[in-house]
Amino acid sequence: MEREIDFARPRRMRCGSCRLEWSVNAEWLERFDRALVGCPCCGTDCQSEDHPNFWVAQEDAAHDDSLVRKQYWYHSTTHADWPNRDFDPTALLSDVTKKRMEQLGSGGGGLGRWAERQRAKALHIGTYEAAVENMFRRMRNQDGSAEQFYLYRVRLSPDCVIEFGVQEEPTDFVGDAHLADVCGVGVNTFRYVNTHEDPSSISLAVEIDALHVVQRIRIPLEVPLSDPWVVEGTERLLDAASRPAPFPKTAVERLRRMPSALAVEAQRIETDASTHLPLELRDRISAAFEEANFHTEPSAYPAKLRGLVQLVGNPQAVLHLLDCETWRLV
Ligand SMILES: [Zn+2]
Repeated sequence: MEREIDFARPRRMRCGSCRLEWSVNAEWLERFDRALVGCPCCGTDCQSEDHPNFWVAQEDAAHDDSLVRKQYWYHSTTHADWPNRDFDPTALLSDVTKKRMEQLGSGGGGLGRWAERQRAKALHIGTYEAAVENMFRRMRNQDGSAEQFYLYRVRLSPDCVIEFGVQEEPTDFVGDAHLADVCGVGVNTFRYVNTHEDPSSISLAVEIDALHVVQRIRIPLEVPLSDPWVVEGTERLLDAASRPAPFPKTAVERLRRMPSALAVEAQRIETDASTHLPLELRDRISAAFEEANFHTEPSAYPAKLRGLVQLVGNPQAVLHLLDCETWRLV
């Protein structure tokens, strides 16, 4: 079962002080972040410790356990084999680190305990919008724009055991969640309110046994180079590449290296692409223009931007691609 996909839907807020719940739009949130508005009942704004925060609407279908099991869930990652039961958390550690960790704890064996704890970490799945926004964040904040991302569509096991209610996100200070720390014995599915991606939607922290099957596609979408937006963007870049760098006008500009006309145009095209996105996503898109590779593949950058924007603007195309993939047993 597919939820309705809408990147610009109203968000639900709950006041940490008076517990009022109400819905807001992107413009209100922007004013809230600048402390210009607060809770409509008690006035508490973003500067207070008890500030209003995202909360889940009462009518969200994912309150219902049977719908949680029927609904499709999503995950975006750079791992081509997610979720992996044979995942070895020690694979990326150096021998020196391994030796040091082995000596930790009373009687040693720190490495084994650490690896066991890493393997028991919960996996996170959520709405389609949350998975796409997660990729945007990683591309922008974690320098991941050159990496290949994958979008997974997930079905839960019909006999997964779901914790009662919706809670706050159960992650620790490094962003890890362990269901054994927050749930009863045997629970492998935990609902929480996502306050970062698709804010006020329900996400799930799950153990791998709660997952039944997954489908996978590569994202962003591949866009035909004949796409008019890509053709126009490529022409603009080729034209800019033939122009000299803008002449420095001030002493400061003369001291630092001026960006090339090509780099300036690439930035303009990124800004133009973002105007097709809902307000709250506009400053999140980033496809990292690579000037050195421009002449071998001049269409690559506008095509990548177009593919990113289509994840938001044309989710039906994404769902259709997923429909063509076979389900893999977890
Ligand atoms: Zn209030």
